[in-house]
Amino acid sequence: MLSTMQDVPLTVTRILVHGTHVHGRSVITTWTGQDRPQRRTFREAGERAVRLANALHDELGVRRGEPVATLMWNNAEHVEAYFAIPAMGAVLHTLNLRLFAEQLTWIVNHAADRVVLVNGSLLPMLAPLLPQLPTVEHLVVVGPGDLTLLEGCPPAVHDYEELLAGRPTTYPWPELDEREAAAMCYTSGTTGDPKGVVFSHRSVYLHSMQVNSTESMGLSSYDTSLVVVPMFHVNAWGIPHAAFMSGIGLLMPDRFLQPGPLAEMIEAERPTHAAAVPTIWQALLAELTAKPRDIGALKRVTIGGSACPPALMKAFDEQLKVRLVHAWGMTETSPLGTTSFPPVYATPEEEWGYRLTQGRFPASVEPRLIGPDGSVMPWDGKSAGELEVRGPWITAAYYGGAGGEALRPDDKFSPDGWLRTGDVGVISEDGYLTLTDRAKDVIKSGGEWISSVDLENHLMAHPDVAEAAVVAVPDEKWGERPLATVVLREGAAAGFEELRAFLAERMARWQVPERWTLVEEVPKTSVGKFNKKVLRTAYAEGRLD
Ligand code: ADP
Repeated sequence: MLSTMQDVPLTVTRILVHGTHVHGRSVITTWTGQDRPQRRTFREAGERAVRLANALHDELGVRRGEPVATLMWNNAEHVEAYFAIPAMGAVLHTLNLRLFAEQLTWIVNHAADRVVLVNGSLLPMLAPLLPQLPTVEHLVVVGPGDLTLLEGCPPAVHDYEELLAGRPTTYPWPELDEREAAAMCYTSGTTGDPKGVVFSHRSVYLHSMQVNSTESMGLSSYDTSLVVVPMFHVNAWGIPHAAFMSGIGLLMPDRFLQPGPLAEMIEAERPTHAAAVPTIWQALLAELTAKPRDIGALKRVTIGGSACPPALMKAFDEQLKVRLVHAWGMTETSPLGTTSFPPVYATPEEEWGYRLTQGRFPASVEPRLIGPDGSVMPWDGKSAGELEVRGPWITAAYYGGAGGEALRPDDKFSPDGWLRTGDVGVISEDGYLTLTDRAKDVIKSGGEWISSVDLENHLMAHPDVAEAAVVAVPDEKWGERPLATVVLREGAAAGFEELRAFLAERMARWQVPERWTLVEEVPKTSVGKFNKKVLRTAYAEGRLD
């Protein structure tokens, strides 16, 4: 028997219309680095999104199904593009502005982007690439920038505000199939070519509901979120879309992502929620320790993208009275996978243990662990395996390029269609995921596995250590052994012997590294994670001892 329910498509258009009207007074605040931030209500941004859609259609000839790229910081105009492009039936393609030139060029060519919206401050980066971007016909420049950099370049250049001026304030939104593409994002491609993940209207809609739910980010119109996670990093973890659904105010840092300005904007604008990767919070902690500020409004911080070091969570709890909430996800999972809130039955002593896990899965994300022999492992908190997931906002393939077939590489998808995450871990009997490593980062020493994340977490709990990254290096006797690269805090003097002894009290002796090196900074990926590939290469080329 079929239901009697209406079959209304779940679309970004619906979210836009809802946010513009019902939450019309919620505000997007964009940091300008000047005396005053820019403030724009959802109503204003929604209306400007309508004008943008008209401009893209009438002036630049954008049609349904076509990608429209953005190379932009987190700001109100980027939010406008986030809604205008999918609502008109085109596909928002966010470009990662921290990628190397070759990767960015590869991605734009692969997606065959014809129109690029670019912040004026990023023209010095984009202009030199234009000769290698033959598909790009139109550049829409948002905000001030040095336009002389574009002189003689092939694409037509438009000013965003001029393009919007005088456009109609209504748009005949097409009736979209909820399975049509709404947005696309390429993984940062630490190995091999970047891979494109294409989100549907339906997946964005359902994911937004999850982002807003209490045991996830818990966003509501009573709050303001500081969105540090870039809008090119898996749709800023879904926050802008979710905001137009729940009405949460948005505080956008634009290009002011250094710890000083972040601390300043938290004090001045009093956001209650924030989201970013651990390296950002590590830097902010150092900043606030050196120069305390009132960040008392901040209640809940979503932290993920890489494992949250326990020492960092503790310092935020005890020193700053801010609760870090650990979450796991990936581009392929939209990204929300797990979020870690302790269960109601946890004792105060147990709570901490639960908070440090990656957390529980929402009902829409189904997990399984595949052990070394290919069998499904039990949820007993001990049996480790590679995590596989499936659900309505998990990708089933990678984008094959304009006109190309979707790609389903065997190492990324199981024969029965589950996504292979490449993450290794255990799940407790009550459903909490603990990741021990990425499959490619785990150190295989003498037939046993050593978790690089465990070593790093213990090292970063030492008072003299600012950052530590551990990678596997080849070893004649053991196959692989860990190499610890350490950044000491300013003025700290701990020697390797002391750090070794510190680790030996916390981990099995055979797991403690014998190879150590001091570095000025751990290299980071384009989205701020430790870049272990760079460390491995540096070691192989003799640039690290
Ligand atoms: P990339 O793969 O290029 O780094 P993603 O942002 O998609 O881009 O990264 C997803 C990966 O990040 C996950 O597969 C996992 O290895 C890691 N990750 C994300 N969140 C966490 C977390 N809370 N703890 C440990 N690892 C995490």
